[in-house]
Amino acid sequence: MAGISDEDIQKVRDASDVVTVIGERVPVKQRGRDFWCCCPLHQEKTPSFKIAPSTQLWHCFGCGEGGDVFSFIMKTEDLSFPEAVRRLARAEGILADPVYTGKALAGFFQRPARRD
Ligand SMILES: [Zn+2]
Repeated sequence: MAGISDEDIQKVRDASDVVTVIGERVPVKQRGRDFWCCCPLHQEKTPSFKIAPSTQLWHCFGCGEGGDVFSFIMKTEDLSFPEAVRRLARAEGILADPVYTGKALAGFFQRPARRD
């Protein structure tokens, strides 16, 4: 993924709780350790969409879709992977500039992680 390092992706992933991100879009209910909701990717009346906080992964037993917080955004909002990362980075306040452009984003992701 050009311009986006694994470290930066991890940074955004760490800041984006999958239950919170999905819960902002569809009503979720806790059952045991996991959270459940009606799948936003297919029509259903009983929840078969499981979100596991421990692994930060989700899976729908109805339509078979699943993944992490990034793939949820990609599938529900029809975004590419970099767009999903950027969207979450902004949502979680990782990017300070509220109207950053793709260029600003590139700067963010190209920023050295460490300055030893
Ligand atoms: Zn589904």
